[in-house]
Amino acid sequence: MKTSLTIAVSKGRIFKDALPLLEGAGIVPIDDPETSRKLILDTNRDDVKLVLIRASDVPTYVDYGAADIGIAGKDVLMEYEGDGIYELLDLKIAQCKLMVAGPINATEGSANGLRVATKYVNSARRYFANQGKQAELIKLYGSMELAPLVGLADRIVDVVDTGNTLKANGLVPLEHIADISSRLIVNKASMKMKHAMVKRFIDSVAQTVAQRNS
Ligand code: AMP
Repeated sequence: MKTSLTIAVSKGRIFKDALPLLEGAGIVPIDDPETSRKLILDTNRDDVKLVLIRASDVPTYVDYGAADIGIAGKDVLMEYEGDGIYELLDLKIAQCKLMVAGPINATEGSANGLRVATKYVNSARRYFANQGKQAELIKLYGSMELAPLVGLADRIVDVVDTGNTLKANGLVPLEHIADISSRLIVNKASMKMKHAMVKRFIDSVAQTVAQRNS
């Protein structure tokens, strides 16, 4: 039987940035993911398909082998607790920073004893513990910027790109937690069972990444 590859990727920013990398590896989706409602996209290669899922679900699909390969943000990977994946390549796309942010009048480093709203509870917990700070974490699933405005929290932990969203809501970045970019992840079993095909794919993506960043 012919070996096939399933690649998990999320719609939007990451997909748009990942397209040229996939193309560099000779993989072009047949349907336009932005207009198609299909969740499984065929490609120009009959042995490669793409599955379109929520960014935070990419590691889960790859961990359980529902996809062999995934493209996931480091922010999502830092939250993920499974151990069935290898993180093999920094794709240097969708770059941003994971930061603590707060109201304009907040002072840097003053999160001790405060309430912090975030969808990145694991990363935030680790960060504040390393800093020796106590923070009460409130798990949210989106629109973190709203929390300090309505008195739900004193700080947020969120990914920041241009900082425009923070600014528009009267918030400022206060502490840098981590640099974020998208990574290529591979299911551990696929790495063994489909080694030649996976390695060929990774090598050609790595080559494109290197060319684009030289
Ligand atoms: P900004 O450019 O800082 O205004 O970013 C706007 C929003 O987009 C942020 O609040 C984030 O939730 C989201 N965002 C920005 N960059 C990324 C990224 N690389 N990956 C995921 N979400 C992002």
